[in-house]
Amino acid sequence: MKHTDALDILQTIYGYPNFRGAQADIIDTIIDGGDALALMPTGGGKSICYQIPSLVRRGTGVVVSPLIALMQDQVDALRALNLNAAFINSTLSREEIADTEAALLAGDIDLLYVAPERLLMPTMLSLLDRAEIALFAIDEAHCVSQWGHDFRPEYMGLSLLQDRFPDIPRIALTATADQRTRDEIVKNLGLQGAKKFIAGFDRPNICYALAEARNVKDQLWEFLKSQHTESAGIVYCQSRKKVEDIAKWLCEQGRDAVPYHAGMPAQDRQRNQTHFLRNDSVIVVATIAFGMGIDKPDVRFVAHLNLPKSVEAYYQETGRAGRDGQPSDAWLVYGLQDVINLRNMMAESNADEQHKRVEHHKLEYMLSLAEQDMCRRRALLEYFDDPNEVVCGNCDNCLIPPETWDATDAARKALSCTYRTGQRFGVNYLVDVLLGKSNDRIINNDHQSQSTFGIGKELNATQWRSLFRQLIAKGFLTVDVGGHGSISLTDYARPLLRGEQTLKVRVSSAQSASSSRSGGGSKRRSAPTIKAADQPLWDELRALRKELAETAGVPAYVVFSDKTLAEMVDKRPLNESEMSKVSGVGQHKLDHYGDAFLDVMKHFATVT
Ligand code: ADP
Ligand code: ZN
Repeated sequence: MKHTDALDILQTIYGYPNFRGAQADIIDTIIDGGDALALMPTGGGKSICYQIPSLVRRGTGVVVSPLIALMQDQVDALRALNLNAAFINSTLSREEIADTEAALLAGDIDLLYVAPERLLMPTMLSLLDRAEIALFAIDEAHCVSQWGHDFRPEYMGLSLLQDRFPDIPRIALTATADQRTRDEIVKNLGLQGAKKFIAGFDRPNICYALAEARNVKDQLWEFLKSQHTESAGIVYCQSRKKVEDIAKWLCEQGRDAVPYHAGMPAQDRQRNQTHFLRNDSVIVVATIAFGMGIDKPDVRFVAHLNLPKSVEAYYQETGRAGRDGQPSDAWLVYGLQDVINLRNMMAESNADEQHKRVEHHKLEYMLSLAEQDMCRRRALLEYFDDPNEVVCGNCDNCLIPPETWDATDAARKALSCTYRTGQRFGVNYLVDVLLGKSNDRIINNDHQSQSTFGIGKELNATQWRSLFRQLIAKGFLTVDVGGHGSISLTDYARPLLRGEQTLKVRVSSAQSASSSRSGGGSKRRSAPTIKAADQPLWDELRALRKELAETAGVPAYVVFSDKTLAEMVDKRPLNESEMSKVSGVGQHKLDHYGDAFLDVMKHFATVT
């Protein structure tokens, strides 16, 4: 019965016909008073998992969200559905806070957003003691993990919710979590008894492309020109200087681009972020300081001009593209210099040795993803222990297979050397053995008398390292991340070692002359697939959306998502009843915007 309520809310308020994936189970768990940990890829629909139970259960859903700068937009999106949403943070005046507190105590708020540091204030906790609470939702729960890249110490304090409010269900949500992070979330938030919902990590609508940098600006321009002439996107750079430089250059090229980095005055940063969020064709050029909690669903591409420091970071940053499920691009170019810079940064950080080692190996994985010659998606999913046998057809390697060479013999030497030295050493050591270098360590270990000592002189050290990285990437070898970086063989290595299997690997881009891959990447056009004949209608709907959003002072997507507009183009609704069947058109939006959009539809029906 509760479930029917939930489904009814989904259909009438949100305008979606049915739940996706684990949504219904998660919602039922919370409605029944249980705790949950929900791991879902970005765009998977996490918000609904706590919003709907907040509406079904008595009281207010309290949402812990890390960034106060984004709360206004989150609340606006709910108000556009005619829900009673509010936030309490330092941007409000004393009177506004008092009003919100009174509304909370009166039971007039469906959803209340607060940052963790606010929630943990004694006054806030005693306010919550007096209010009726439907649930606690802990968004971006990976912030509680010290290993993660977004660690927020305040998140640790949230463990008190369990003791202070034992009868109120809690749901922790995140899009990134390898096993280690997942375990830490459970431990640090006291969610041992929670039901775990781990959805796959695949983001099928994102096309992945990674290439070596040659001339970064030319490559980026080629990519934008061929696929994203009018899309909103994020361009990530490692340094503030590069951010400024690329943003200025994009503006000179006629694009609406704004910089964002931690060195800018806060109000400039806020202004640029708002400009990006509110419009549907702005490019934000940023350091990784930008992006956490950005809910903008119509980001059509994420471009990296430097290598991220780990696969998690890459996955999370690229995950900001295409939350609405529409085709989007994750595009990256990187140079050897990135690797050197990242290594230096890690070496100079004052983290302890174990932490540094973990970071170092995470970087190695990222590099192996960049050098991969097989399906990128498959490699990415393997990293998250979410293996996927299919070849995706929507990444650069699937679309334009890279140049390869027959590495069967070399690979056997590498595997054999790893095995014979006891599977206790890292890549650099093994390469030295293969090249026959008699350094102190090798002599101490007596490996210069080993049968694989010096058998690999046909390749140089760079080529061997590239081969090792690819063997790791392909799963023949594994690295002990967190330990000493020692490499060992997996079960897949045996047939190769015995000569029952051949192996082709990618020609490292430093050796390859072909440059066709590094520019635009695929020929496939991203952004919602609108037929040329439908372009005028599409443009008209977007213009109307922009106008309505500006009038209301909300982001364009709060009016309707790209997906909803694309469905209007496709289904051509001409009356209210047809319009209400378009996904994303709920009752309140139909009342509010239905006529304006129907006018455009009717106009096009008569002219075409
Ligand atoms: P996440 O927080 O997991 O990244 P969101 O909650 O922002 O994802 O949802 C992504 C998009 O998918 C939003 O536009 C949301 O309204 C939409 N969505 C969520 N659930 C459904 C559903 N069951 N059917 C259709 N669209 C949905
Ligand atoms: Zn692929």
